[in-house]
Amino acid sequence: MDSTTAADTAAASTTTANTATAGTGAGATTPGPEPVLDGTRTPLQQALIYVFVLVPMVAFVAAIPVAWTWGAVHWHDLGMMAGFYVVGCLGITVGYHRYFTHKSFKARPWLRVALAISGSLAIQGSVVNWVAHHRRHHAFSDREGDPHSPWLFGTSPVAVARGFVHAHFGWLFDRRETNHRRFVPDLLADRTIMRVDRNFGWLVLLSLALPAVIGALVTQSWVGAATGFFWAGLVRMGALHHVTWSINSVCHMIGRQPFTSRDRSRNFWPLAVLSMGESWHNLHHADPTCARHGVLRGQVDISARTIWLFERFGWAHDVRWPTPARLAKLRS
Ligand SMILES: [Zn+2]
Ligand SMILES: [Zn+2]
Repeated sequence: MDSTTAADTAAASTTTANTATAGTGAGATTPGPEPVLDGTRTPLQQALIYVFVLVPMVAFVAAIPVAWTWGAVHWHDLGMMAGFYVVGCLGITVGYHRYFTHKSFKARPWLRVALAISGSLAIQGSVVNWVAHHRRHHAFSDREGDPHSPWLFGTSPVAVARGFVHAHFGWLFDRRETNHRRFVPDLLADRTIMRVDRNFGWLVLLSLALPAVIGALVTQSWVGAATGFFWAGLVRMGALHHVTWSINSVCHMIGRQPFTSRDRSRNFWPLAVLSMGESWHNLHHADPTCARHGVLRGQVDISARTIWLFERFGWAHDVRWPTPARLAKLRS
């Protein structure tokens, strides 16, 4: 228990967890830790969240009927969809998550920028916002203060169903903002990364426009632009959203818990490939700064393999690889 707590605290390295203040939110009059929450979104920001959550979700659901009914899909659309998926997914898993949130390795300056940009292309929020939410998740995992635990409403069937929806995407509509000064002071002090953060809107535009432009150039037609936008823009974004969201919902509800963690995180093997190793979520909560999440025999972890390649090329160093002794300590 102690080692888990220490690991989680180290993971959310800048939160230095005064967990007792979870959910209080109010500004303190005496010196103390920053509050967990800080202000609310503007109506425009809230409207954009609805658009960027719901439109790709509808496209994702409509993808099969569109392909089936109109045959409006080409091989180059699927190729682009896979390419943009991989870049955005690794940007989230290796960049936003293992590098910026948990500092699992150190990276060359250009690689840091490339990871922040490729994470932005996944359209899951700017790097500062994403990291702030995720550090808060680790600081309060499955307790009050966790932004997206499925276990906040109880354990009756109705409460569990409600918890699933909340953890999967319902939490995104909470207008209250996570306090950046408390959770990401390191990023706020990083001028290069803040520049990427400020340009998030342009990167979203690029992420959606590029598939349309490539589709138009390949087919020399407006139809090619439209199908490129639909498949490699919207459907790709919707698919990656659901995979990432499943780490917050499914991986705190279903699967095995071979390691000791203070929350209800689980390893869910069916999502290992699509999530690029993130669904080995029980190990991740047991040892948040570890660069490899799939640590047991046969557990595919494409993100860890990518970090390994970065290390081989000399682009990453001081990687926090798991050791047998440490894993033995973490076993339940
Ligand atoms: Zn989690
Ligand atoms: Zn994490």
